[in-house]
Amino acid sequence: MTTFPSLFVSHGSPMIVLQHTPAHDFLAGFGKELGKPKAILVASAHFETRAPMLTADAQPAMIYDFGGVPRPLFEVQYPAPGDPALAQRAAQLLGEAGLAAQTVANRGFDHGTWTPLKLMYPDADVPVVQLSVQPALSAAHHMAMGRALAPLREEGVLVMGSGSMTHNLHEYMRMRATIDTPAPDWVKQFGAWAHEAIESGSQQDIANWLECAPFARENHPSPEHYLPLPFAFGAGGKGAKGKRVHTSNEYGVLMMDAYVFD
Ligand code: ZN
Repeated sequence: MTTFPSLFVSHGSPMIVLQHTPAHDFLAGFGKELGKPKAILVASAHFETRAPMLTADAQPAMIYDFGGVPRPLFEVQYPAPGDPALAQRAAQLLGEAGLAAQTVANRGFDHGTWTPLKLMYPDADVPVVQLSVQPALSAAHHMAMGRALAPLREEGVLVMGSGSMTHNLHEYMRMRATIDTPAPDWVKQFGAWAHEAIESGSQQDIANWLECAPFARENHPSPEHYLPLPFAFGAGGKGAKGKRVHTSNEYGVLMMDAYVFD
């Protein structure tokens, strides 16, 4: 059985599925590089709840949770099956770690899940379970969820977080950014801080980001796109280090960085 590293990806704009950007090409190649897992468990920035929830549908529907994008994006399908048994097992692992979680039915794949997976595993033949993030809870809580689910990696499951290294959409509007707008300094500084903390294995800095990171609130006015990062770091296990497998920028405010942890 292959043990996969845990993975953090920046999913960017849903247009990533249709536009051939460096991040698109990275994701398309990286699924092949990793190989196919037995199942995938994704903590998605677009599944926000008060307490941890796991999708338990056998055949999840699609959620088109975006607007202002071209019509073809609303026609993309990602018919991967769910994995109710994995959802139960993950809920059990979280519960044993004191992180009471519930399974939920009739909750489809949001674009935090299906856009990166459409590129990584286009055949949609690997079962997928989504885990919610809790924006009202800390990065340390998300790291603890990752740590609780780390054993799944030894069972052939790819554990991943899908968010964004930086994500200030107000600034995106204000700047009237296009895909080629260069990254402002406050975006670069946050990315450089995270890179140093991740590659030196400093789970503590990533957990305490609001105190440690330069321009934390400027890059994440709300935390939901950051939280999949501490989740993935935690899923790397105790003493995990991260390795950057991709970096690029889109629209100035979106760093598209991806990391593996083990
Ligand atoms: Zn997003």
